[in-house]
Amino acid sequence: MAATPLLTHTLGFPRMGAQRELKFALERHWRGEIDAAALESVGAELRARHWQAQRDAGLAFATVGDFAYYDHMATLIQLLGCEPARFGFAPGTPELARYFAMARGVQAQPHEAASCDAGCTHTAHEGAGQPALEMTKWFDTNYHYLVPELHADTPFRLSGHRLFDEVAEAQAQGHRVKAQLVGPLTFLWLSKEKGQAPFDRLTLLDRLLPVYAQILARLKAQGVEWVQIDEPILGLELPAAWSQAFEPTYWQLGKAGPQVLLATYFSPLETQLRLACQLPVAGLHVDAVRAPQELTGVADWLPGYKVLSVGVVDGRNIWRTDPDAALALLRPVADKHPGPLWIAPSCSLLHVPVALAGEEVLDAELRSWLAFATEKLGELGLLRDLLDGSVQDTDPRLAESRAAIASRRASPRVHRPEVARRLAEAPAGADQRRAPFAARQVVQRGRFGLPPLPTTTIGSFPQTAAIRAARAAHRRGTLDDAHYRAQMRAEIALAVRKQEELGLDVLVHGEAERNDMVEYFGEQLDGFAFTANGWVQSYGSRCVKPPVLYGDVARPRAMTVDWTVYAQSLTARPMKGMLTGPVTILQWSFVRDDQPRSRSCEQIAWAIRDEVADLEQAGIGIVQIDEPAIREGLPLRRALWKPYLDWATRAFRLSASGVGNATQIHTHMCYSEFNDILPEIAAMDADVITIETSRSDMELLGAFGSFRYPNEIGPGVYDIHSPRVPTVHEMLRLLRKAAEVVPPAHLWVNPDCGLKTRGWPETEAALRNMVHAARQLRQEW
Ligand code: GLN
Ligand code: ZN
Repeated sequence: MAATPLLTHTLGFPRMGAQRELKFALERHWRGEIDAAALESVGAELRARHWQAQRDAGLAFATVGDFAYYDHMATLIQLLGCEPARFGFAPGTPELARYFAMARGVQAQPHEAASCDAGCTHTAHEGAGQPALEMTKWFDTNYHYLVPELHADTPFRLSGHRLFDEVAEAQAQGHRVKAQLVGPLTFLWLSKEKGQAPFDRLTLLDRLLPVYAQILARLKAQGVEWVQIDEPILGLELPAAWSQAFEPTYWQLGKAGPQVLLATYFSPLETQLRLACQLPVAGLHVDAVRAPQELTGVADWLPGYKVLSVGVVDGRNIWRTDPDAALALLRPVADKHPGPLWIAPSCSLLHVPVALAGEEVLDAELRSWLAFATEKLGELGLLRDLLDGSVQDTDPRLAESRAAIASRRASPRVHRPEVARRLAEAPAGADQRRAPFAARQVVQRGRFGLPPLPTTTIGSFPQTAAIRAARAAHRRGTLDDAHYRAQMRAEIALAVRKQEELGLDVLVHGEAERNDMVEYFGEQLDGFAFTANGWVQSYGSRCVKPPVLYGDVARPRAMTVDWTVYAQSLTARPMKGMLTGPVTILQWSFVRDDQPRSRSCEQIAWAIRDEVADLEQAGIGIVQIDEPAIREGLPLRRALWKPYLDWATRAFRLSASGVGNATQIHTHMCYSEFNDILPEIAAMDADVITIETSRSDMELLGAFGSFRYPNEIGPGVYDIHSPRVPTVHEMLRLLRKAAEVVPPAHLWVNPDCGLKTRGWPETEAALRNMVHAARQLRQEW
C-alpha cells in the first residue's frame, strides 16, 4: 500500500454550468444585451461553483485554468500572445473582444445596395471581414477547439492574465490550487502552419518555451504548488522529432515553476510509455479507462518518488463506475508504486454533463446506472476511502454502487435474447448486396429512367419557425397528435410542390418532423434513453445532448415509412427515403461500456436494415442512409484504423443490403477529406454517395478520380453553410471540374449538405440555379 496519503483531483470540469448559464450569457453578450462585465460575472460565479463542488467532494485541489469563455485553446493563444496578425486589432481593443473576434470571425461590411446591380451576391463587393479561426475536433471527442495559426515569424510573449487572475480568485475563495494548461508540444501539434514559405512549426518551440517558463514562474510566485500540463499527444503515433522534443522541453519546464503533473489521456502510450514515465517532471497522469493494460507498465517504469495519477473514472462516458473493478485496477498499482498515488477521472470532465440532479424524466433504475461530472467527483472520494481503508466494505455508498452495477448487469432492459440471437444467426453475406454495383446500376437505370446528371438534395429543407414551434408544442402536449400530423404533412406537401416546381429529379420529404438526425431515431428505438439536461459543450456556446444507448437495440415499429409514403403519394417522381446510419447514431450518442462499440453498432445496423426493408416494401425505390460521422470515429492511432473501418463499413452494409438490386441506396457524408480511407468508403458499396466539395473547389474530389471510385457520386456544388446564392455559372464551373475527374455518367448534382439551417428564398434561388446548371450541361454533352 502506498505510504503517502491518497489524493483525488480532476483534470477539468464542465464550463457551461448545470443550466447552461454560460451559453445563455454568451449569446446575450453577442446580441449586445449584456456587457463584458456582466458576462465575466457569470463566468466568475460558475468557476466559484465548480471549485466548490470539487472541495465538497473532498478533492485535494481546485483545478484552475480549465474554464474558457469559448475554448481553452483560444484562451491559451491569448496567454501566449500569438493572436494571428490578420485580425489587425486596433490598439486598445479589449482582450475579450479580440477573443470573440478570433472565435467567431469579423463580419464583412456589406456593400451599399445602391452601388451594385440588384441581385448581385458577389462577396468581392463586400468590405474586408476576417473569418474565424478554423475549428477542429479535439482528438476523438465531439468538442471542437479553435486552431492556432502560426507563421514562421509568429512572436510569443506572455500576454493574457486570465489564468493568474483565476488562480488568485480561487485562492481568495480558500482553495488549494492546481493550475492547468495545455502543454507546448500539444499546442504546437494542434496548430496550423500559415504563410507563403513552408516551415516546420516544431521549430517555434525554442521561442515558445521561455513564455511557458514565465507562466510557470508566475504561478509559483502566486503560491501554486502544482501545475497540470496536458500533453495528450503522447498517446499519438508521433514523428521522432516530436517525441524527442519532450525531454528537453520538460527539462526546462520541470524546474521553471510549480511541480509539474504531466497529463496524458484518450489513448494508450505504447511506444511512448517509457518516455512519459521518465520525463523530468514530478508526476504523470494516465488514462486507465482507455489503457488499463498499461497500468502495470507505468507502475514499473515510473520512478518511485513521482506522483502517479490514475484516471480510473471514465471522463468520456456517463456510466457509474464499478467500484470493485476500479479497485481491482488500483490495488496492484498502490502496492507497486511507492510514491504518491492520485485518483482522477480519465480525462477532463468537460466531455460529460454536469449533474444528475434534475434528471427527473429518467426512471430511477436507469438513473442509478449513471454518473455525470458531479457524481464522478463523488466516486473519486469513495475509491480513495476504500483504497486507504478509511471506510469499510460495509459503507452504504459502496452498497449502493454495487446494487446499481448489479442491476444494470442483469437488467432485461439491457439484455434482450432476441437481439443477440439475431446477430448470432445472421446469414453469411448479409452485408452484401445481391448483385455487384455494375449490374445494379443497369437495373436501377431501367427502373428510374433519370436523365444524366440527375439532381437531388441531401434531405432537410428549411426548418422554419413555424415548424419548430409545432414540434415544440407537440412535445409539450399543447398540440395534439392529429393536428401535429396535419401540420407536418402540410410542410411535406409544400416541400414536394417546391421541388417539383424547381424541376429536381429525385425528391425528399424535407425532414420537417426531425429536430435532430440522431435523436429522431433514438427516440423510436428500444435501448436508447434521453436526458432532460445532459448537455455537453460542442464548441463555443453550442451544446449537444447525446442520447444514452443503454441496452440492446430493437425497432418496435417503422420510424419513417408513414411520412415517406405520404410524400411519395404527392408526386410521380422518385421520393428518396431518409435515414441516419448506424455509425453516426453510435458516434453521436453516449454508448454502452459493457460491450464493444462494434457490437452496439451492429445492433443499430439491424434496426436500420428493417426500416430500409419496410420502405422498400412500401414502394420507396431510393433510400439514403446518412453517415456523416464515419470519419470522426477513426481511432487516434492509425494502427487501430483497420479494425474500426472493418466493423463500421460492415455495419453500414448490413443496414443497406437487405434490399433488391432495383432499390438504390444513397449515403451522404459532410466532408470529402477521405483520401486515406477511400478503399473503405468504396467498400460501403452505396449506389450513390453525396459529399461536401463546393468550398474546396472540387479539389477534394480529385482523390475519388485517381482512386477510380467505382460507384456514382454527387459532389456538392452549393455551399449550404452560407446564405449566399451561387450563380448558374459558378455551379457549371464546379460541375465541369468534377467531370474532369469522375466519369460524367456517374455524376449527380446536389448541394453540399441538408438545407435545414437555410431560409426558403435563398434555398429556392440556389436550387433553381443548380437545376439550370445541370440542364445546360446535359445539352452540351
Ligand atoms: N439528411 C440530413 C439533412 O439533410 C443530413 C445531415 C448531415 O449530413 N449532417 O439534414
Ligand atoms: Zn452533410
